[in-house]
Amino acid sequence: MLNKILPFLFLLTTVYNCPLFTKQTAVNSAKKEQIRKQIENVDCDDADRLEEVKKLYKSLGANKDEIKVVDYGDVKNVIVTVRGKTDETVVVGGHYDKTTLGCGVIDNWSGIVLIANLYESFKKKNNKKTYKFVAFGKEEKGLIGSKAMVKAIPLEKKSNYCAMVNFDSFGFTNLWTLESISDRKLIELGQKVAKERGQVFQIKNFRGASSDSKSFQKAGIPSITVSGLGDNWRKYLHQDADQLENISFPKIYENYTFSIDYLEKIDSKSCDYFK
Ligand SMILES: [Zn+2]
Repeated sequence: MLNKILPFLFLLTTVYNCPLFTKQTAVNSAKKEQIRKQIENVDCDDADRLEEVKKLYKSLGANKDEIKVVDYGDVKNVIVTVRGKTDETVVVGGHYDKTTLGCGVIDNWSGIVLIANLYESFKKKNNKKTYKFVAFGKEEKGLIGSKAMVKAIPLEKKSNYCAMVNFDSFGFTNLWTLESISDRKLIELGQKVAKERGQVFQIKNFRGASSDSKSFQKAGIPSITVSGLGDNWRKYLHQDADQLENISFPKIYENYTFSIDYLEKIDSKSCDYFK
């Protein structure tokens, strides 16, 4: 038996000592730590959130000109664009506002941190598509920020929008999708990525649940909402229990790595694929 285990152990030690492996492990744990700190940095006051979003992007290397606060009159969104080789556009969005109950760290500062870290990863990549990382205002008041963004897209530019991926509320489970406000092709792509990673991308439906993907879907832009809430979400969402201590940081990091694979998959497809 030992002569069977020894070569395996040798291989394992070699891999662990390989400089590339060690370096990658260090990068991963630094990223994990970064995400944890950014979530812990949550400001529970709704009035401060817009400034906090700007600060977050600044800390990740976005300069002042890149961080655009778009004022639509009744609502403000923060938009940070990473240009790709083409004008084909993917919107990666989530809301920054919160309800009056709880800290709003689950719903949806967790999503804001996830999106900002995706921005950090994607600005270093050589993307085919152009990415708009968006923090929407007033989602809780009726998807106002996302509706305003969709309305502002000129008709002739609309066909450039290949997909919209909406991130809402994390810290409990692997990513799953809210089917009622998500399109088939984008759901299937999520399932494909999950299969490759040896996990499941669950499809769920909750009566009355909505989020910002709906505004894009209504305008004919293929959209999906992903979440990492558990089935006991009613205990936390729009409740006093929406607090830091209830979040699992390793899950959010896992969601982040999944999302990178997912967006890369979207990048590899033609815009027509989603329509
Ligand atoms: Zn939400």
